[in-house]
Amino acid sequence: MNEEAERLRQRGEPVIHLGIGEPKNKAPINAILNSAAKLSTGDIKYTPTDGVLSLKEAVIDYTEENYGRIPDPDNVIVSSGAKQSIFNVLYTLLNPQDEVVILAPYWVSYPEMVKMVQGVPVIVKPEDGGLHPRMKDIAQSVGSATKAIIVNSPNNPSGLVFSDEFLKELVEFCESKGIYLIVDDIYHKLVFDGRKPAPCYEFVEKEIEDSKIIVINGISKLYGMTGFRIGWAIAPQKLVKIMTNVQSQTTSCASVILQAAAEGALTGIQSVVESLRLTMENNRNIIMNELEAFNGVKVTKPGGTFYCFPDFSAYHKSSVELSELLLRRALTVTVPGVEFGMEGRLRLSYAGSANDITEGIARIKWALDPQSPSEIYIGNKKCVRDWL
Ligand code: PMP
Repeated sequence: MNEEAERLRQRGEPVIHLGIGEPKNKAPINAILNSAAKLSTGDIKYTPTDGVLSLKEAVIDYTEENYGRIPDPDNVIVSSGAKQSIFNVLYTLLNPQDEVVILAPYWVSYPEMVKMVQGVPVIVKPEDGGLHPRMKDIAQSVGSATKAIIVNSPNNPSGLVFSDEFLKELVEFCESKGIYLIVDDIYHKLVFDGRKPAPCYEFVEKEIEDSKIIVINGISKLYGMTGFRIGWAIAPQKLVKIMTNVQSQTTSCASVILQAAAEGALTGIQSVVESLRLTMENNRNIIMNELEAFNGVKVTKPGGTFYCFPDFSAYHKSSVELSELLLRRALTVTVPGVEFGMEGRLRLSYAGSANDITEGIARIKWALDPQSPSEIYIGNKKCVRDWL
């Protein structure tokens, strides 16, 4: 779909992208300066596999400030993106046929990564048909082969921020059963409406070293630095040691220039994160206004991230076909819900401009809703709907 959208765009078609998973802001100045300073030394070599110590120290300070725990440097491993961190964790934890519980809707990569390391993804959907996971559904899916559960809140694709009560129950459940809890916190500061979700360590007395919690984080989403490819994991030392072995045989280390950029971002001016958060909250309000005026679409208000995950099943049962139709007819890119484990929905991103959001939703409405006017301008071309 992305390739088709790119082809259309290159032909000069006015494509609107509501599929994107990255904010539009420029990299923070401290990230640019720090990496440029490193680059200009010309001394660009391998770093320790688990990361440059000064970046690990910045991650430790970040963890203390945001999670109320002070990891030891041996509890931290820096990788080429949170994605590599998650893969390293799964490679480290799983033996063939071990199960990992994944909560639908989920980020597309989790089940694929579990399968790549010969594990078995066990998908758990909320039985009530909603988007918020429920402990009783999870408990029913856990068995003797369960090695880990992955939780991602704020959530990609739903934008939901899970309740503190749920996370407390989940942490306590995992600790009592001896199951690892992989907490993918990549969006953890992009939370709206004045909410401040409790950090996962709040629900466990144990030290990082003795707990089952593994926290994944990175600079991609909070600092809008997706192209810098730096993420990290906080985990017990015995796991970090194995993850370091895995990484040493795959990528050796993350690039020293990009690690310098990440350190700049973490130690530099932090108002960039708040400013991004405010932009996304404003964009969330805009997309909610547009969607609420759209009869037939059911949407749960996202509490964070830059995604929402409305239910379009009143218009089309197949999200892939719907997404294809919207690209072809309305030149608007969306992501089919089925890729996130839920049919009938589309993931819409509001990481783009306010104009793209309103224009994109107006086009979707025109393409699907027989009650909307049958004519619309797409770019400077007048289009008439003749398929409803
Ligand atoms: N986890 C989730 C839930 C994500 O949405 C993404 C990026 N789309 C990642 C992890 C990966 O982040 P990174 O760019 O740091 O690899």
